[in-house]
Amino acid sequence: MNSRRKFLHTSLLGALAAGTSDFWGDVLNGAAAPPKGNLPVVIATWDNRRATAAAWDILSKGGRALDAVEAGARIPEADPKDTSVGYGGFPDRDGHVTLDACIMDEFGNAGSVNFLQHIMHPISVARRVMEKTPHVMLSGEGALQFALSEGFKKENLLTEEARKAWENWKIKSEYKPVINIERHDTIGIVAIDAQRRVAGACSTSGMAFKMHGRVGDSPIIGAGMYADNEVGAAAATGLGEMVLKTLGSFLIVEEMRRGKHPQKAAEEAIRRLARKYPQQSEKNQVGYIALDNRGRHGAFSLHPGFNYALFQQAANQVLEAGSYFNK
Ligand code: ASP
Repeated sequence: MNSRRKFLHTSLLGALAAGTSDFWGDVLNGAAAPPKGNLPVVIATWDNRRATAAAWDILSKGGRALDAVEAGARIPEADPKDTSVGYGGFPDRDGHVTLDACIMDEFGNAGSVNFLQHIMHPISVARRVMEKTPHVMLSGEGALQFALSEGFKKENLLTEEARKAWENWKIKSEYKPVINIERHDTIGIVAIDAQRRVAGACSTSGMAFKMHGRVGDSPIIGAGMYADNEVGAAAATGLGEMVLKTLGSFLIVEEMRRGKHPQKAAEEAIRRLARKYPQQSEKNQVGYIALDNRGRHGAFSLHPGFNYALFQQAANQVLEAGSYFNK
């Protein structure tokens, strides 16, 4: 037995005795050596196939994961029909469209904006914060001023449809998040490129008709999204208040760091919610996507109805995630 095989053999016996590691389980079934040809890969929350296609355009030409996730997030941001992200997003209860976004690159750099108004592409402003300032997060008026100084255009993001929906909502003025029906369509998008660079992005207009000034999980590094080149990346959608309290995306990346498959890591983060916040978990939706730096992915949610887009090996698919509750 050559020395490498011997090492594998003895390590395997040790790992089997300990019985804990997914990684060594994969060595046994032949999947541990990073399978060639499974990179690049990009995965996004919900049926954001147009976003994963935009990202794939970049990834398939050998481009950088960071550019891919930014390009992906910009698709729903500019789509007036998407009522949870950017232009066309439902306003807060005072009629203002306020946006949250964050981005991370393969070096662990991070940028974020929250409570940003009038700018169609918060993800690109977040990237500028990351690349052009010594800070990670800019908020509200300061974020807007920075965006304008960077040449972004001030626009009205409240579409006629969104304004009508708000007028309708005002008749009763009650805020009750309804699982999936309320369309938690935040885009979280994570990718690994052909050079094994990991990046992630997240962008949202937040909960429809939220309190003015409310900021959710999406722009918070580690909550709405987290990426670490040593491990992989994860992103969240759903009731931000729940994700914030468990730093769900960071939790998933740390679970993967400890050897969990992305699927098991996403399941663990959902179980954490169900255990710590049983009543909130019964009534609200949270969904996670996860990707490790070997190109394996996972997704899981509290309730059925969460799907995600996966672009890998030239196929762009939408897949249904498993869930903690059955109905
Ligand atoms: N997570 C977002 C927030 O709480 C909402 C969503 O995913 O729709 O702002």
